[in-house]
Formats: sequence, structure tokens, C-alpha cells
Amino acid sequence: MLNDLSSFSSVVMSTRMDAEWSYDRISGRYRDEKGRFLSKASVGKLVDGRIDKLETQLKRFTRMLGDGSITLDQWQGSVREAIKAAHIQAATIGYGGRSEMGSAEYGRIGQRLRAEYTYLQGFVRDLLDGRISAPMATARIGLYAQSVRGSYWQGTEMREQQRGFSLMRRILDAQAVHCQDCLGYAARGIVSIGSVPMPGVRCACGARCKCTVKYFRQQPQAVPV
Ligand SMILES: [Zn+2]
Ligand SMILES: [Zn+2]
Repeated sequence: MLNDLSSFSSVVMSTRMDAEWSYDRISGRYRDEKGRFLSKASVGKLVDGRIDKLETQLKRFTRMLGDGSITLDQWQGSVREAIKAAHIQAATIGYGGRSEMGSAEYGRIGQRLRAEYTYLQGFVRDLLDGRISAPMATARIGLYAQSVRGSYWQGTEMREQQRGFSLMRRILDAQAVHCQDCLGYAARGIVSIGSVPMPGVRCACGARCKCTVKYFRQQPQAVPV
């Protein structure tokens, strides 16, 4: 069982997600493995697919913890490794690939992971105190997977800013149920980057927020002649 778990994690780490896409710095767009441009929605789907895979893994680890086939320490170690790999992969998509990443980009990922590990520590404490039922644990671990979307947005925002985009607009997902916060952010229209949070931040949907962002360059001022 233990061997199974550790090999699982190393498989995740070695999965080259960027084999499915590449980033074109000139156009600021992504291409698929055949060189065709990917729509923003397709890029988002790559991230969603990774999140689904992670959610399945994390729930499996949590079931194994529940039926006693792994210890709490093993569970925590496996969860940490799995979320680490997924955050790195999602952020890498946002940034536009490893070639676009330097110490600032890696630093942001590290920061984000440290925060996730702190939440996980709290989760472990609650499990030790017996404050969580098995269904509650399964629901809660799902949020760790959803939270990976935030790393994608963090990377995307930094990349767009470096390309000279200074404006953003929050877009509501047509299929999702929106919290009051998200409705408010979207209603503000085009604003400077940072004046409304990234999807999943400071809203009641939290990690489950399905909003997206569109970025714009500052409009050149019309000069009267
Ligand atoms: Zn929301
Ligand atoms: Zn939202």
C-alpha cells in the first residue's frame, strides 16, 4: 500500500503537462501539440482537467485514511505531494511555461504552497481532535483540489501584467451559481488589475469560484489636435 502511494506521487511529479501545449510569447497565446491556437476556454479546460484528476486522488487518499489502510502521517505526506505538483503545473500554465518563469514566479508558487500547507496542518489537527466525520473530510479535501485554480490565475495575472496589460474585467461563468461578491466584482466592469480580486479570492464561492478574467491594455488617450 505504501509503495503504491509513493509511486503515485512520483508519477504525478513526472507528468509533463506542458507536452499538451506551448506558449507563444509574441501573440501571448497558447498552442496545442499540433501548433494550433487554443482558445482561453480550452486553456481553462486543461487546468480543470488537472483539478479533477487531483480531486480524485485526494479523495482516494482520504478514503484510505478512513478505512485505516494508511496513517494520518502518510495521508498528510501524500496530500502535500499531490497538491504541490498540481499547483506547480497550474501556475506553469498561467505563466506560459517553464521558459517564462524566474525566481519571482517560483517565489509566488512557494508562497501559495506554504499557505496551503498551513491549511492542511489545521485539517490534520481537526482530524486528530475527531472533529470531522468521513463525509466532511471528503468534502473538505475537495477544496484543496479546487484551490489549484487560484495558482493558474496568479500565474496568468503576472504574465498579462508583464505583457503590459494593466486592466481587468471579472467575467461570470454562464453555468455557475454566483455569490453576491462575484456579482459585485463583475458589475464593476473594466478596472485596473488588483482593484478587484482574482477568482476564488475574497468571495463566498472561495475555491469553487468559476469566474474568469479578461485582461486589457490601457486605452491610449485621445490627443486633441
Ligand atoms: Zn463568488
Ligand atoms: Zn466567482
